[in-house]
Amino acid sequence: MKKVSVSCRNVRLSYGRTEVLKDVNVDIEPGEFFALLGPSGSGKSTLLRLIAGFNPHQHGQLLIDGVDITGQPPWERNIGMVFQSYALWPHLSVWDNVAFGLVERKVAKAELKTRVGAALDTVGLSGFAQRRPNQLSGGQQQRVALARTIVIEPQVLLLDEPLSNLDKTLRVQMRQELLALQRRLGITTIFVTHDQEEAMSTADRMAVLDKGVVQQVGVPADLYDFPVNPFVAGFVGTMNLLPARVSARDSQTLSLQVDGVGDLRLPLGPDTRALPDSPTLLLSFRPHALRMAAADAARDAGHLWVPGRVEAREFLGEFTRYRVRVGEHALAVDQPHYAGSIKFAVDAAVSLGLEASQVRLFAG
Ligand code: ADP
Repeated sequence: MKKVSVSCRNVRLSYGRTEVLKDVNVDIEPGEFFALLGPSGSGKSTLLRLIAGFNPHQHGQLLIDGVDITGQPPWERNIGMVFQSYALWPHLSVWDNVAFGLVERKVAKAELKTRVGAALDTVGLSGFAQRRPNQLSGGQQQRVALARTIVIEPQVLLLDEPLSNLDKTLRVQMRQELLALQRRLGITTIFVTHDQEEAMSTADRMAVLDKGVVQQVGVPADLYDFPVNPFVAGFVGTMNLLPARVSARDSQTLSLQVDGVGDLRLPLGPDTRALPDSPTLLLSFRPHALRMAAADAARDAGHLWVPGRVEAREFLGEFTRYRVRVGEHALAVDQPHYAGSIKFAVDAAVSLGLEASQVRLFAG
Protein backbone atom coordinates (compact mmCIF):
# COMPACT_ATOMS: atom_id res chain seq x y z
CA MET A 1 0.00 0.00 0.00
CA LYS A 2 1.17 3.52 -0.77
CA LYS A 3 2.38 5.38 2.29
CA VAL A 4 0.83 8.82 2.58
CA SER A 5 1.60 12.05 4.41
CA VAL A 6 -0.93 13.94 6.54
CA SER A 7 -0.74 17.72 6.91
CA CYS A 8 -2.73 20.12 9.04
CA ARG A 9 -2.38 23.72 7.91
CA ASN A 10 -3.56 26.58 10.12
CA VAL A 11 -6.32 24.44 11.60
CA ARG A 12 -8.59 26.21 14.05
CA LEU A 13 -11.71 25.02 15.76
CA SER A 14 -14.03 26.54 18.35
CA TYR A 15 -16.91 25.15 20.34
CA GLY A 16 -19.08 28.22 20.84
CA ARG A 17 -16.73 30.94 22.00
CA THR A 18 -14.04 28.55 23.22
CA GLU A 19 -11.19 28.08 20.80
CA VAL A 20 -10.09 24.46 21.22
CA LEU A 21 -7.55 24.26 18.37
CA LYS A 22 -5.47 27.37 17.75
CA ASP A 23 -3.70 27.50 14.43
CA VAL A 24 -2.42 23.92 14.39
CA ASN A 25 0.30 23.15 11.86
CA VAL A 26 1.62 19.59 11.76
CA ASP A 27 3.20 17.57 8.95
CA ILE A 28 3.19 13.81 9.41
CA GLU A 29 5.51 11.84 7.15
CA PRO A 30 4.42 8.85 5.07
CA GLY A 31 4.51 5.67 7.15
CA GLU A 32 5.22 7.49 10.39
CA PHE A 33 3.98 6.41 13.82
CA PHE A 34 3.14 9.86 15.17
CA ALA A 35 1.95 10.56 18.72
CA LEU A 36 -0.21 13.48 19.82
CA LEU A 37 0.59 13.98 23.48
CA GLY A 38 -1.03 16.43 25.86
CA PRO A 39 -3.00 16.74 29.08
CA SER A 40 -6.70 16.03 29.21
CA GLY A 41 -8.65 18.76 27.43
CA SER A 42 -5.70 19.97 25.33
CA GLY A 43 -7.52 19.24 22.05
CA LYS A 44 -5.96 15.91 20.99
CA SER A 45 -9.23 14.07 20.30
CA THR A 46 -10.70 17.11 18.64
CA LEU A 47 -7.78 17.21 16.21
CA LEU A 48 -8.01 13.48 15.54
CA ARG A 49 -11.75 13.65 14.92
CA LEU A 50 -11.20 16.60 12.62
CA ILE A 51 -8.72 14.56 10.56
CA ALA A 52 -11.26 11.70 10.44
CA GLY A 53 -13.95 14.14 9.32
CA PHE A 54 -16.17 13.67 12.37
CA ASN A 55 -15.82 17.28 13.52
CA PRO A 56 -17.16 20.10 11.40
CA HIS A 57 -14.42 21.90 9.57
CA GLN A 58 -14.06 25.58 10.41
CA HIS A 59 -10.70 26.98 9.38
CA GLY A 60 -7.51 25.77 7.72
CA GLN A 61 -6.65 22.85 5.49
CA LEU A 62 -6.16 19.09 5.78
CA LEU A 63 -4.02 17.39 3.18
CA ILE A 64 -3.51 13.68 2.65
CA ASP A 65 -0.64 12.88 0.35
CA GLY A 66 -0.76 16.51 -0.72
CA VAL A 67 -4.44 16.33 -1.71
CA ASP A 68 -6.82 18.73 0.02
CA ILE A 69 -9.49 16.64 1.78
CA THR A 70 -10.87 19.50 3.88
CA GLY A 71 -14.34 19.35 2.37
CA GLN A 72 -14.63 15.54 2.14
CA PRO A 73 -17.11 13.65 4.33
CA PRO A 74 -15.61 10.93 6.57
CA TRP A 75 -16.63 8.01 4.37
CA GLU A 76 -14.69 9.38 1.42
CA ARG A 77 -11.47 9.89 3.38
CA ASN A 78 -10.15 6.33 3.57
CA ILE A 79 -9.13 6.84 7.17
CA GLY A 80 -9.57 4.21 9.89
CA MET A 81 -10.14 5.16 13.51
CA VAL A 82 -9.90 3.04 16.65
CA PHE A 83 -11.59 4.42 19.76
CA GLN A 84 -10.74 4.01 23.40
CA SER A 85 -14.07 2.29 23.98
CA TYR A 86 -13.52 -0.29 21.12
CA ALA A 87 -17.22 0.13 20.16
CA LEU A 88 -17.63 -3.52 19.14
CA TRP A 89 -21.09 -4.93 18.38
CA PRO A 90 -21.86 -7.13 21.43
CA HIS A 91 -24.35 -9.37 19.58
CA LEU A 92 -22.01 -10.13 16.68
CA SER A 93 -19.17 -12.66 16.57
CA VAL A 94 -15.58 -11.50 16.20
CA TRP A 95 -15.74 -12.52 12.52
CA ASP A 96 -18.91 -10.50 11.89
CA ASN A 97 -17.57 -7.50 13.78
CA VAL A 98 -14.49 -7.47 11.56
CA ALA A 99 -16.53 -8.16 8.39
CA PHE A 100 -19.01 -5.37 9.15
CA GLY A 101 -17.30 -2.58 7.19
CA LEU A 102 -16.79 -4.82 4.17
CA VAL A 103 -20.44 -5.96 4.16
CA GLU A 104 -21.45 -2.29 4.22
CA ARG A 105 -19.15 -1.63 1.28
CA LYS A 106 -20.74 -4.60 -0.53
CA VAL A 107 -17.44 -6.41 -0.99
CA ALA A 108 -17.87 -9.78 -2.77
CA LYS A 109 -18.12 -12.85 -0.52
CA ALA A 110 -14.87 -14.53 -1.56
CA GLU A 111 -12.83 -11.35 -1.15
CA LEU A 112 -14.52 -10.61 2.17
CA LYS A 113 -13.54 -14.05 3.45
CA THR A 114 -9.93 -13.58 2.44
CA ARG A 115 -9.68 -10.09 3.91
CA VAL A 116 -11.37 -10.85 7.24
CA GLY A 117 -9.23 -13.99 7.59
CA ALA A 118 -6.07 -11.99 6.88
CA ALA A 119 -7.03 -9.19 9.30
CA LEU A 120 -7.73 -11.66 12.13
CA ASP A 121 -4.46 -13.39 11.34
CA THR A 122 -2.60 -10.07 11.46
CA VAL A 123 -3.83 -9.35 14.99
CA GLY A 124 -3.34 -12.98 16.12
CA LEU A 125 -7.02 -13.80 16.61
CA SER A 126 -7.63 -16.46 13.93
CA GLY A 127 -8.76 -18.97 16.52
CA PHE A 128 -11.34 -16.60 18.03
CA ALA A 129 -13.53 -15.84 15.02
CA GLN A 130 -16.72 -17.33 16.46
CA ARG A 131 -16.51 -15.78 19.92
CA ARG A 132 -18.57 -12.84 21.08
CA PRO A 133 -16.75 -9.73 22.37
CA ASN A 134 -17.76 -10.49 25.99
CA GLN A 135 -15.91 -13.82 25.72
CA LEU A 136 -12.64 -11.99 25.08
CA SER A 137 -10.13 -10.22 27.34
CA GLY A 138 -9.71 -6.43 27.09
CA GLY A 139 -6.55 -6.83 25.02
CA GLN A 140 -8.27 -9.23 22.62
CA GLN A 141 -11.22 -6.86 22.23
CA GLN A 142 -8.79 -4.10 21.39
CA ARG A 143 -7.25 -6.33 18.72
CA VAL A 144 -10.71 -7.00 17.23
CA ALA A 145 -11.23 -3.24 17.05
CA LEU A 146 -7.89 -2.95 15.24
CA ALA A 147 -8.71 -5.81 12.85
CA ARG A 148 -12.06 -4.22 12.07
CA THR A 149 -10.28 -1.00 11.15
CA ILE A 150 -7.36 -2.40 9.13
CA VAL A 151 -9.62 -4.75 7.14
CA ILE A 152 -10.94 -1.76 5.19
CA GLU A 153 -7.32 -0.98 4.24
CA PRO A 154 -7.28 2.67 5.27
CA GLN A 155 -4.44 4.92 4.13
CA VAL A 156 -4.26 6.50 7.57
CA LEU A 157 -4.86 4.91 10.96
CA LEU A 158 -6.07 7.10 13.84
CA LEU A 159 -5.87 5.71 17.37
CA ASP A 160 -7.61 7.60 20.18
CA GLU A 161 -6.15 6.46 23.52
CA PRO A 162 -6.49 2.86 22.32
CA LEU A 163 -4.72 1.34 25.32
CA SER A 164 -6.08 3.32 28.22
CA ASN A 165 -8.74 0.72 29.14
CA LEU A 166 -6.07 -1.94 29.67
CA ASP A 167 -4.10 -2.63 32.81
CA LYS A 168 -0.48 -1.52 32.98
CA THR A 169 1.21 -4.81 32.00
CA LEU A 170 -1.10 -5.40 29.07
CA ARG A 171 -0.75 -1.80 27.97
CA VAL A 172 3.02 -2.13 27.74
CA GLN A 173 2.69 -5.39 25.80
CA MET A 174 -0.04 -4.05 23.50
CA ARG A 175 1.88 -0.91 22.61
CA GLN A 176 4.73 -3.05 21.32
CA GLU A 177 2.25 -5.20 19.37
CA LEU A 178 0.64 -2.10 17.96
CA LEU A 179 3.95 -0.72 16.82
CA ALA A 180 4.99 -4.06 15.26
CA LEU A 181 1.66 -4.20 13.41
CA GLN A 182 2.05 -0.63 12.20
CA ARG A 183 5.56 -1.41 10.95
CA ARG A 184 4.32 -4.49 9.07
CA LEU A 185 1.47 -2.59 7.43
CA GLY A 186 3.45 0.61 6.90
CA ILE A 187 0.29 2.64 7.53
CA THR A 188 0.71 6.28 8.54
CA THR A 189 -0.58 6.27 12.11
CA ILE A 190 -1.58 9.04 14.48
CA PHE A 191 -1.80 7.95 18.07
CA VAL A 192 -3.42 10.09 20.77
CA THR A 193 -2.29 9.63 24.35
CA HIS A 194 -1.90 11.57 27.58
CA ASP A 195 0.79 9.14 28.74
CA GLN A 196 4.26 10.49 27.99
CA GLU A 197 5.94 7.11 28.44
CA GLU A 198 3.56 5.55 25.91
CA ALA A 199 4.23 8.31 23.39
CA MET A 200 8.00 8.36 23.87
CA SER A 201 8.45 4.60 23.76
CA THR A 202 6.58 4.14 20.48
CA ALA A 203 6.50 7.29 18.39
CA ASP A 204 8.84 8.08 15.52
CA ARG A 205 7.94 11.69 16.18
CA MET A 206 5.43 13.39 18.41
CA ALA A 207 3.65 16.68 18.96
CA VAL A 208 2.99 18.08 22.44
CA LEU A 209 -0.28 19.98 22.66
CA ASP A 210 -1.39 22.34 25.41
CA LYS A 211 -4.60 24.38 25.38
CA GLY A 212 -5.07 23.77 21.66
CA VAL A 213 -1.58 24.99 20.75
CA VAL A 214 1.15 22.74 19.37
CA GLN A 215 4.05 23.44 21.67
CA GLN A 216 6.73 21.35 19.96
CA VAL A 217 7.09 18.64 17.32
CA GLY A 218 10.05 16.29 17.09
CA VAL A 219 11.57 12.91 17.86
CA PRO A 220 10.96 11.91 21.48
CA ALA A 221 14.59 12.21 22.60
CA ASP A 222 14.84 15.76 21.21
CA LEU A 223 11.71 16.83 23.06
CA TYR A 224 13.13 15.31 26.21
CA ASP A 225 16.63 16.80 25.86
CA PHE A 226 15.78 20.09 24.17
CA PRO A 227 12.27 21.14 25.21
CA VAL A 228 11.34 24.57 23.92
CA ASN A 229 9.54 25.68 27.07
CA PRO A 230 8.94 24.63 30.68
CA PHE A 231 5.58 23.07 29.79
CA VAL A 232 7.10 20.59 27.32
CA ALA A 233 10.03 20.01 29.69
CA GLY A 234 7.71 19.04 32.53
CA PHE A 235 5.25 17.09 30.43
CA VAL A 236 7.71 14.63 28.88
CA GLY A 237 9.49 13.91 32.18
CA THR A 238 10.40 15.35 35.56
CA MET A 239 12.20 18.67 35.26
CA ASN A 240 13.70 20.84 37.97
CA LEU A 241 13.23 24.57 37.55
CA LEU A 242 15.34 27.04 39.45
CA PRO A 243 14.65 30.78 38.97
CA ALA A 244 17.78 32.91 38.73
CA ARG A 245 18.75 36.52 38.10
CA VAL A 246 21.41 37.35 35.56
CA SER A 247 24.15 39.42 37.20
CA ALA A 248 26.55 39.44 34.24
CA ARG A 249 27.05 37.77 30.90
CA ASP A 250 29.61 37.53 28.15
CA SER A 251 29.83 35.21 25.16
CA GLN A 252 31.28 32.36 27.24
CA THR A 253 29.75 32.62 30.69
CA LEU A 254 26.60 33.59 32.46
CA SER A 255 26.82 34.79 36.05
CA LEU A 256 23.65 34.02 37.92
CA GLN A 257 22.24 34.63 41.34
CA VAL A 258 19.95 31.97 42.70
CA ASP A 259 17.94 32.75 45.84
CA GLY A 260 19.13 30.70 48.78
CA VAL A 261 22.03 29.30 46.75
CA GLY A 262 24.23 32.26 45.87
CA ASP A 263 26.25 32.93 42.74
CA LEU A 264 26.66 30.44 39.92
CA ARG A 265 28.90 30.81 36.89
CA LEU A 266 27.44 28.84 34.05
CA PRO A 267 29.65 28.18 31.02
CA LEU A 268 27.54 28.71 27.91
CA GLY A 269 27.34 25.77 25.51
CA PRO A 270 26.03 25.76 21.92
CA ASP A 271 22.46 25.16 23.14
CA THR A 272 22.39 27.88 25.75
CA ARG A 273 23.99 30.71 23.77
CA ALA A 274 20.88 31.77 21.87
CA LEU A 275 19.26 32.90 25.05
CA PRO A 276 16.60 35.58 25.38
CA ASP A 277 18.00 38.78 26.75
CA SER A 278 16.05 38.53 29.96
CA PRO A 279 17.12 39.69 33.44
CA THR A 280 15.54 36.61 35.01
CA LEU A 281 15.91 33.03 33.81
CA LEU A 282 14.75 29.57 34.68
CA LEU A 283 17.54 27.04 34.97
CA SER A 284 16.12 23.67 34.13
CA PHE A 285 17.71 20.25 34.49
CA ARG A 286 16.56 16.64 34.80
CA PRO A 287 16.84 14.76 38.12
CA HIS A 288 19.66 12.56 36.78
CA ALA A 289 21.79 15.53 35.71
CA LEU A 290 22.87 16.03 39.32
CA ARG A 291 25.56 14.30 41.31
CA MET A 292 25.09 14.05 44.99
CA ALA A 293 27.88 14.11 47.55
CA ALA A 294 28.25 14.64 51.28
CA ALA A 295 28.39 18.36 52.11
CA ASP A 296 32.03 18.13 53.18
CA ALA A 297 33.23 15.92 50.29
CA ALA A 298 35.80 17.17 47.78
CA ARG A 299 34.13 18.82 44.78
CA ASP A 300 35.41 18.42 41.25
CA ALA A 301 35.62 21.46 39.02
CA GLY A 302 33.52 19.87 36.27
CA HIS A 303 30.26 20.53 38.07
CA LEU A 304 28.42 23.51 39.51
CA TRP A 305 27.99 22.70 43.19
CA VAL A 306 25.07 23.88 45.28
CA PRO A 307 24.35 23.07 48.92
CA GLY A 308 21.14 21.31 49.91
CA ARG A 309 19.41 19.22 52.53
CA VAL A 310 17.65 15.87 51.92
CA GLU A 311 13.93 16.12 52.63
CA ALA A 312 12.71 12.75 51.40
CA ARG A 313 13.92 9.72 49.54
CA GLU A 314 12.31 6.92 47.58
CA PHE A 315 14.14 3.74 46.66
CA LEU A 316 12.90 2.77 43.20
CA GLY A 317 15.17 -0.19 42.45
CA GLU A 318 17.26 1.10 39.56
CA PHE A 319 17.72 4.45 41.22
CA THR A 320 16.89 6.39 44.34
CA ARG A 321 14.93 9.59 43.97
CA TYR A 322 15.68 12.25 46.56
CA ARG A 323 13.85 15.45 47.26
CA VAL A 324 16.48 17.98 48.20
CA ARG A 325 15.78 21.42 49.59
CA VAL A 326 17.92 24.07 47.89
CA GLY A 327 17.15 27.54 49.18
CA GLU A 328 13.39 27.84 48.88
CA HIS A 329 13.17 25.16 46.18
CA ALA A 330 12.70 21.41 46.32
CA LEU A 331 14.71 19.59 43.64
CA ALA A 332 14.26 16.01 42.43
CA VAL A 333 17.59 14.20 42.30
CA ASP A 334 18.01 10.68 40.89
CA GLN A 335 21.05 8.66 41.85
CA PRO A 336 21.62 5.31 40.09
CA HIS A 337 21.53 2.40 42.47
CA TYR A 338 23.97 -0.46 42.69
CA ALA A 339 24.69 -2.79 45.59
CA GLY A 340 26.67 -0.92 48.19
CA SER A 341 26.10 2.60 46.81
CA ILE A 342 25.76 5.27 49.46
CA LYS A 343 22.31 6.38 50.42
CA PHE A 344 21.87 9.75 51.99
CA ALA A 345 19.56 9.92 54.96
CA VAL A 346 16.66 12.32 55.34
CA ASP A 347 17.99 15.55 56.85
CA ALA A 348 21.54 14.94 55.59
CA ALA A 349 23.44 18.02 54.38
CA VAL A 350 24.58 17.36 50.83
CA SER A 351 26.22 19.00 47.85
CA LEU A 352 24.56 18.75 44.45
CA GLY A 353 26.84 18.85 41.43
CA LEU A 354 25.13 20.07 38.30
CA GLU A 355 26.52 19.30 34.85
CA ALA A 356 26.48 22.57 32.94
CA SER A 357 25.95 20.81 29.59
CA GLN A 358 22.66 19.40 30.90
CA VAL A 359 21.18 22.77 31.84
CA ARG A 360 18.51 24.34 29.63
CA LEU A 361 17.71 28.00 30.12
CA PHE A 362 14.29 29.55 29.63
CA ALA A 363 13.27 33.16 29.96
CA GLY A 364 12.02 33.54 33.54
P1 ADP B 1 -8.28 15.86 24.81
O1 ADP B 1 -8.54 14.82 23.77
O2 ADP B 1 -6.91 16.45 24.69
O3 ADP B 1 -8.57 15.39 26.21
P2 ADP B 1 -10.57 17.17 23.64
O4 ADP B 1 -10.17 17.37 22.23
O5 ADP B 1 -11.49 16.04 23.93
O6 ADP B 1 -9.27 17.09 24.56
O7 ADP B 1 -11.26 18.49 24.19
C1 ADP B 1 -10.68 19.76 24.06
C2 ADP B 1 -11.58 20.80 24.68
O8 ADP B 1 -12.78 20.91 23.92
C3 ADP B 1 -12.01 20.48 26.09
O9 ADP B 1 -12.02 21.66 26.82
C4 ADP B 1 -13.41 19.94 25.92
O10 ADP B 1 -14.18 20.20 27.06
C5 ADP B 1 -13.92 20.71 24.72
N1 ADP B 1 -14.90 19.93 23.92
C6 ADP B 1 -14.68 18.72 23.35
N2 ADP B 1 -15.76 18.32 22.66
C7 ADP B 1 -16.70 19.29 22.80
C8 ADP B 1 -18.04 19.48 22.31
N3 ADP B 1 -18.62 18.58 21.53
N4 ADP B 1 -18.68 20.63 22.67
C9 ADP B 1 -18.08 21.55 23.43
N5 ADP B 1 -16.82 21.44 23.92
C10 ADP B 1 -16.14 20.34 23.61
